[in-house]
Amino acid sequence: MFPARPPRQNPQLCQACRQPFLEEDELGFDFCGRSACLTRRQLERPELNQLRQAREARWLEVTQRRTAPLLDAVLSRLETPASEAVTGLVPFVDRPLVPLPADRRASFETHLRQVVDNSFTETPEGSEPLPPKDDPDYAQRAADEAEEPSVLNAACIACRGDCCLPGGTHHAFLSARTIDRFRWRHPSARAKDVISYYLAALPDESVQGSCVYHGAFGCTLKREDRSSICNTFLCWFRRELDKDHARKPGYGEVVVAIARTHTQRQEEDAPCVRVVSVAEDGVLTEHTDLKLPALSDVELAPFHAALSAVHTVKEERKR
Ligand code: SF4
Ligand code: SF4
Repeated sequence: MFPARPPRQNPQLCQACRQPFLEEDELGFDFCGRSACLTRRQLERPELNQLRQAREARWLEVTQRRTAPLLDAVLSRLETPASEAVTGLVPFVDRPLVPLPADRRASFETHLRQVVDNSFTETPEGSEPLPPKDDPDYAQRAADEAEEPSVLNAACIACRGDCCLPGGTHHAFLSARTIDRFRWRHPSARAKDVISYYLAALPDESVQGSCVYHGAFGCTLKREDRSSICNTFLCWFRRELDKDHARKPGYGEVVVAIARTHTQRQEEDAPCVRVVSVAEDGVLTEHTDLKLPALSDVELAPFHAALSAVHTVKEERKR
């Protein structure tokens, strides 16, 4: 089953608070459901929201049609009927790996020193930070840190970390609470040890503009050293795939990562797709030989019409 809604164009960032969208937020809105932003969302005209939903539905239709041959090809290759596989769409990240620019590294280091300082101000060196009241002994946190079966990671492997992009502007979501957790596991760690540890974990190259720890093969921080949100957040697409997998235990996954903007690349073999299959036993295959078919103007017309309708109403609002 494909998910019912397509990826956000600017994934996960609320246009008001610039924080990642909440898991429960519906797609198609500009503002998240935090109380400070909810009012702005509610002020949006209902008809605009309906038009946005229509635009997303048209995008999904055209995307499903375009990616269907790729899914069929992989299922045929695996000799697996569609009813015996979990299939879906996910976002697509295709940014280059670059050395972290000096200004971004300096900004991150300033943030790191601040959150470490906050942690040690609350509980000085030699005393152990207390776990949060709602998670005494970090039992929930430890459960969230557990590695997941590879088959469930098919989505993220294909996507390559769309939800890590906001980590670039939020300093890997590190907070004093993350540092408390680190110190709880390393009670003798001094402030300078913690800073050295987190700086040493930075990759030589990271995904351009993304989180400082977003390396070539994913996150370079161990799960237990990440912010809680990094271990708990799953985008809507991944959650849909997980739900489908729970309904079909024992089956592998076939995932198509595709750029939201594929509609602007109508040519055959447009470089904005990645197809990955992961068998239940964890065997992973990236099907690099599969080509995205061309997209005709006729196929695109309903999406363009829906896009135009949203644009028209937005322009009217500005007057
Ligand atoms: S949860 Fe996985 S599939 Fe979803 S945006 Fe993050 S990396 Fe991509
Ligand atoms: S710390 Fe790791 S998981 Fe968290 S946003 Fe950065 S790269 Fe992603």
